[in-house]
Amino acid sequence: TLQDRLQSAFKNLRGKGRLSEADIDAVAREIRVALLDADVAVPVVREFIANVKLRAAGAEVSQALNPAQQVIKIVNDELVTILGGETRRIRYAKTGPTVIILAGLQGAGKTTLAGKLGLWLKSQGKSPMLVAADLQRPNAVTQLQVVGQQAGVTVFAPEPGNGKGNPVKVAKAGLKEAQRTLHDVVIVDTAGRLGIDAELMQQAADIRKAVDPDEVLFVIDAMIGQDAVTTAQAFLEGVDFTGVVLTKLDGDARGGAALSVRSITGRPIMFASTGEKLTDFDVFHPDRMAGRILDMGDMMTLIEQAEKVFDEEEANKAAEKLMGGSFTLQDFLGQMEAMAKMGSMSKLMGMLPGMGAMKEQLDNFDEREVDRIKAIILSMTPAERDNPKMIDGSRRARISKGSGTQVKDVNQLVDRFFDARKMMQQMAKGGGMPGMPGMPG
Ligand code: GDP
Ligand code: MG
Repeated sequence: TLQDRLQSAFKNLRGKGRLSEADIDAVAREIRVALLDADVAVPVVREFIANVKLRAAGAEVSQALNPAQQVIKIVNDELVTILGGETRRIRYAKTGPTVIILAGLQGAGKTTLAGKLGLWLKSQGKSPMLVAADLQRPNAVTQLQVVGQQAGVTVFAPEPGNGKGNPVKVAKAGLKEAQRTLHDVVIVDTAGRLGIDAELMQQAADIRKAVDPDEVLFVIDAMIGQDAVTTAQAFLEGVDFTGVVLTKLDGDARGGAALSVRSITGRPIMFASTGEKLTDFDVFHPDRMAGRILDMGDMMTLIEQAEKVFDEEEANKAAEKLMGGSFTLQDFLGQMEAMAKMGSMSKLMGMLPGMGAMKEQLDNFDEREVDRIKAIILSMTPAERDNPKMIDGSRRARISKGSGTQVKDVNQLVDRFFDARKMMQQMAKGGGMPGMPGMPG
């Protein structure tokens, strides 16, 4: 899968101290193959790779991230960009009902989407109405009526037996009915054919002209692969649309359509359908889709957190102190707080090479404990914080009372501090560990 291939491309970067041009080329080549394999359109792949290479080559040596993390971050950012960046919301009409037309090939999922969108709009406090303007297939109207009933949404349909009706007229009548009955969103379901078809395009374009929609949603099956591009282009020229809905993302879609369509048409992906049930539907979030493609959710969270927490100056100061052995309890508290901010430490440690021993310690890292440690350290005099060696038995008793803890808690903290200092000094000598705040990298 695309996920596997990207992961293996990144794997080769682990443990690299710096990225050479050859490293970047190699990883770019693998990403290229992975994208083409996932049916992403060739021009889109080309642009994507060019952007990744440019950014990787220009990337500063990061204090917060190691090279593999840096490349993953760049690839993720570029994926988000190519998927449209920000989430695009429906543009509702200022007055009168908002009109949304659904267009796309037969089987793309338009009728199902009408129900999903209706249900979702209801949850947003809207009062939607579905209009059955697909009069092509014998059962199309009934299908929409069933879906509408499931969603608890009103359906406007031509009189039964009047099957040879005119879809443009039905759409117009539906809009009128919605105005009369005070529905605030009208969703027009249209006919599709199995392939691109001039007559069908014209029909959708005519409906568009007749009801002057606020949104035209091009509905596309995410599993159609390379065909996505030609289909999207044909609908762009034939009907034009304001947004895209990807359906069947639950299938083993290779993700290629999602990446291509937005980029080729310049139209945002607005919703995603992920199953046959009416609730298998959500607003499309480019960042979440990128995360799904990369399948590195944990890694991305860690990268973001590491960057957020990281403060170069502070880290350098702490590093100098470590090297000089003048790391104090005050610094220790700072480190603990930074670690707590980074969330699950053991996960982070698992991603760093050679951190097995420390991982075990961090698996027992209780974030609530930071508060207790803080209380204890704050009950110490500045002199005690600077020179923990002076903390004798009577001082321990005083500190425990002052912090509302037990003497054994104070003992434990002091012991842990000396352990940590020793460990950090060893690490400092051993060249440090990448990606950790407060560590020489
Ligand atoms: P239309 O011809 O564009 O109106 O497509 P339909 O709404 O009739 O859907 C065609 C088929 O795809 C139906 O069997 C739907 O149940 C199915 N379908 C629609 N959306 C999804 C989806 O997101 N996931 C899956 N697995 N099936 C879907
Ligand atoms: Mg249909």
